[in-house]
Amino acid sequence: MENTSLSPRALELAQTLVRMNTVSANSNLALIHFIRDELKRLGVSARLTYNADKTKANLFATLGEGKPSGVILSGHTDTVPWDGQDWSVDPLGAEVRDGKLFGRGSADMKSFIALALAHAPLFLESKAPFAIHFAFSYDEEVGCFGVKGLIADMRDAGVSPLACIVGEPTSMVPAIAHKGVYRYRCCVRGKEAHSSLTPQSVNAIEVAARMVVKVRDMADGFQRDEPRYEGFDVPFSTASVGQFHGGIADNVVPRDAEFRYEFRDLPTADVGAMQAEVVGYARSLEPMMKKVAPETGIEFETICEIPSFLGSAADQVTRMAQRLSGEQGTTLVAFGTEAGIFRKSGIPTVVCGPGSILQAHQPDEYVSLEQLSRCQAFLRGLAATQEIG
Ligand SMILES: [Zn+2]
Repeated sequence: MENTSLSPRALELAQTLVRMNTVSANSNLALIHFIRDELKRLGVSARLTYNADKTKANLFATLGEGKPSGVILSGHTDTVPWDGQDWSVDPLGAEVRDGKLFGRGSADMKSFIALALAHAPLFLESKAPFAIHFAFSYDEEVGCFGVKGLIADMRDAGVSPLACIVGEPTSMVPAIAHKGVYRYRCCVRGKEAHSSLTPQSVNAIEVAARMVVKVRDMADGFQRDEPRYEGFDVPFSTASVGQFHGGIADNVVPRDAEFRYEFRDLPTADVGAMQAEVVGYARSLEPMMKKVAPETGIEFETICEIPSFLGSAADQVTRMAQRLSGEQGTTLVAFGTEAGIFRKSGIPTVVCGPGSILQAHQPDEYVSLEQLSRCQAFLRGLAATQEIG
């Protein structure tokens, strides 16, 4: 495997991107416009698609226009915040020390985007029969919202890609599966009363508590009964409640309660059935609530739905990623990515990128320059590839 030292241009681009604050709550436009302008200098026009209030955008660009199909390099431009974390370096400083590039997003996952951009001239010169597509999204960290528009957009543009490489940090080991992440808010509307008059009330907290127990019972059921998927830290689906709010005073039967819960479903599990079971249970509780007060009820709101991902070691894109990274094996990852969304839209997908998830979202996040060199070798190899597989 080629393992040359990292090009100064690649490192400089990674530092430039890390220095831009693209925490999910903020706009990512400075970063997207920077990439657009860099591509424009190479004669590549990028397509930007914006969110509703025009504060964020996805970028899609094709390097090798006119080639019949292509390989997507996919990345998200947003990062998680660092509030309350104890950093010893500036999260936006992009400091290089001891063979590491430090900063929020250095591992997850601006370095991959920067390296893809640094290799744009090489992709343009490539004699490969396929194009390279850049697909850089917003709002991944808060629920993969950007990428769905991006895929729709790609379809509109008549692009039907051969394969997708999602550059999330896997230490450059091709990853072929992860669980899904599905989060919901459940709002219980009861009927308020003085706490001395409980028979005339519907206690929202008590109803919500029964719902919470339902979620917990389901989690126990997954642990007890679900066929194992070996390779994950927890080889079965999980369910848990993350937040619960309700009540205003000790002597008032609460009218409102809400809680948030999530499923992390195995790629082999049916998450639709899981959520349907929770909703079904809610519907079974409603008649006794409505008997007291017809305006009561239980409602659900989707917070995020990041599908699980199941690729295959036999997929050509996986074999190509193995060849380009010099890795024999494959791995599973414990975090959600956009890979499942690409895969479910019919595009063979693999997750492979520089840096470790152990550093992602952590204080003093970093990516090692060695990992960046490996990613560079991967991308150079991709530019020289004639055939996927
Ligand atoms: Zn990420």
